[in-house]
Amino acid sequence: MERLFVNLPGGGYDILIEEGQLSRLGELSAKVRRPGPAAVVTDGNVGPIYGETAVESLKRAGFSPVLITIPPGEGSKTTERLLWLYSRLLEAGITRSDTVFALGGGVVGDLAGFAAATFLRGVPFIQVPTTLLAQVDSSVGGKVGVNLPEGKNLAGAFYQPLLVVIDPLCLKTLPDRVFSDGMAEVIKYGAIKSEELFEKLLRCAGREGVMREISGIILECCAIKSAVVERDERDTGERMLLNFGHTIGHIYEAAHGYGKYTHGEAVSAGMCAITRMSGRLGKTDEDVFDRLRAAAARFSLPCFIPLPKGEEIRAARDKKAGGKWIDLVFLSRIGRGYIEKMETGTFVSMLGELGEG
Ligand code: ADP
Ligand code: ZN
Repeated sequence: MERLFVNLPGGGYDILIEEGQLSRLGELSAKVRRPGPAAVVTDGNVGPIYGETAVESLKRAGFSPVLITIPPGEGSKTTERLLWLYSRLLEAGITRSDTVFALGGGVVGDLAGFAAATFLRGVPFIQVPTTLLAQVDSSVGGKVGVNLPEGKNLAGAFYQPLLVVIDPLCLKTLPDRVFSDGMAEVIKYGAIKSEELFEKLLRCAGREGVMREISGIILECCAIKSAVVERDERDTGERMLLNFGHTIGHIYEAAHGYGKYTHGEAVSAGMCAITRMSGRLGKTDEDVFDRLRAAAARFSLPCFIPLPKGEEIRAARDKKAGGKWIDLVFLSRIGRGYIEKMETGTFVSMLGELGEG
């Protein structure tokens, strides 16, 4: 088993990575939490495949779990669903001495995590991420929340889990597109912090190749993310590095309406776009763009997404900073991400040029 301790001032926690360990969820959880009533929040795709394994394991360890199933997809990350979930937790008689489990992808983790953070002013929770994106990204770092009609993730909290239990075998049932979605974040970690990881991905022949080394790859990503989070829990400085490809990625997602491109597809094209930009400014080694493009292609991720004319201006207006300067993440070379300030006007006009291809 791979074990990673995330060391935070408010109390650290373990990330455990091992193939097949979902069937030991109860035993592992009982080491950090006295068994008792528990709510296992999952979604309509994950529940039927993994719900029983999780629930049975929790029962064997002395927990009394209730399975709560939400509809799959981003559409469940709403305040309505949150209120609904509070009611289910009340019905199940969950108190602050009990435990909330999030069994699913990022949507389940964000919603159940925010419910746990706020229900009765906080019930301890354990993350059991089942998508690659959630295993390498959203389950680490404590960001939880829901969307508001005005925008994504506008209501939320920093709430760290008690434990993260990652079973890479759960990834076997992911649709290809959802798997690739997570690969964009894996490529990102290599790009900003580890040339070795990046090269490993280039050597892997697609999804099967990655699955052969999956535990190690997840561990490396979690180690990179948790090291950054440990130094900047509240996202005021270094954590910004994790936004590589995201500023432009979010613009693509918004411009095309959420759902046309997955988050990972938008981030993949965003990483390529920002690298073309920084390359033109002479701030990035020449080979970087081609290597990013090759990594994206390995996992059927796009390197280019068109930006309808004028969208870049609207996007810049939306950038809440709205200030003269925008913080961007550039790569000096693969494995070396850094934060660079650019004048918003320059950013917008360069983005406009890229949009045309
Ligand atoms: P994210 O990509 O942020 O993790 P979701 O939580 O919406 O997003 O998960 C993406 C999709 O994959 C959802 O439809 C979800 O039900 C489904 N899913 C999650 N985990 C698995 C799994 N292990 N096997 C099959 N489908 C899964
Ligand atoms: Zn992301």
